[in-house]
Amino acid sequence: MTVDKLVESISNKSDRIGRTVNLMEVCGTHTMAAFRSGIRTRLPEQVRLLSGPGCPVCVTSDNYIDHAIELAMTENTIITTFGDMMRVPGSRGSLSLAKARGKDIRVIYSPQQALVAARKNPGREVIFLGVGFETTTPLVAWTIQNAYSRKMPNYSVLCAHKTIMPAMRALCDSDDVRVDGFLCPGHVSVITGAEIYKPLCREYHAPCVIAGFEPEDILLSIDMLLNQIISGEASVEIQYTRSVTAAGNKLAQKCVNDVFKPCDASWRGMGVIPSSGLSVRSSYKEYDAELKFPRIRVSEVKRDTGCRCGDVLRAVITPSECGLFKKECTPDNPIGPCMVSSEGTCAAYYRYSRIDE
Ligand code: SF4
Repeated sequence: MTVDKLVESISNKSDRIGRTVNLMEVCGTHTMAAFRSGIRTRLPEQVRLLSGPGCPVCVTSDNYIDHAIELAMTENTIITTFGDMMRVPGSRGSLSLAKARGKDIRVIYSPQQALVAARKNPGREVIFLGVGFETTTPLVAWTIQNAYSRKMPNYSVLCAHKTIMPAMRALCDSDDVRVDGFLCPGHVSVITGAEIYKPLCREYHAPCVIAGFEPEDILLSIDMLLNQIISGEASVEIQYTRSVTAAGNKLAQKCVNDVFKPCDASWRGMGVIPSSGLSVRSSYKEYDAELKFPRIRVSEVKRDTGCRCGDVLRAVITPSECGLFKKECTPDNPIGPCMVSSEGTCAAYYRYSRIDE
């Protein structure tokens, strides 16, 4: 179906439903794609797209950034990280600031480069900042397996990996926001498979469609969600069939399960969500930066910047409802992570939304 036909179909179905429906794009890549392609402006008013907590950088807590900076201050360390993490504010500044003060912090493009840095610097400790959802985790697990099999003593991961399902469940449990259906994250689902979303349908009666990233994919997925809402059903459907299967990537899942185990994790704005994080298993404990540098303990410092990223991440407000949006807070001077990350909701609104939104 063409984009025009899909928009028409969505409009007709929205009229049949006759009320506002809130559909959440869980993943930051969907948020950006929906803005960039102009989809948001073509949807009927009654179909609202809410942005969810699926930007890994945005949900990383202040405390983790503080901890990473403390590690950078430690003698003989090299910190390796993805570029998006550099400007995320912790309670005492950012990694960029620490780098400007002379600390050895290097931006890399794949976790494998962290291993290469460890191999090239045998006399120094190389620490990778392990942040990300199921899409990134298998590669990081692989670096740990690799370091283990090569007996590399100078590599470790400061682990803040998260899994998306517990966060989606927490949103369903929350009284703040009503979600009528989920556009489930395409990249994450390539690894996890579609089956993991079934509890959302069973326990919360939430329709789920795993969506691709082209404009037609997103529109078709919205259309599929409206079909479920009209029929009163709640099931998991795969729109992104060219990449996602029911069971997912078993090899990647095995690698992750070998290296990591579930743990409680702190999410920016959402607090601690049980079993929503991953920590390094004891069989690989020498690659866990938290255990390797036990004297580093950073207490959380509460700052009141006025940033409402927590509410944005839970879709309680849109970025334009934050008093700092486009005033004090811009991509050149981000106050919160949602304005820093390339997948951040505030950054997407800043770049693509209309002035009056
Ligand atoms: S506009 Fe800036 S300060 Fe406000 S919620 Fe977004 S990132 Fe935080």
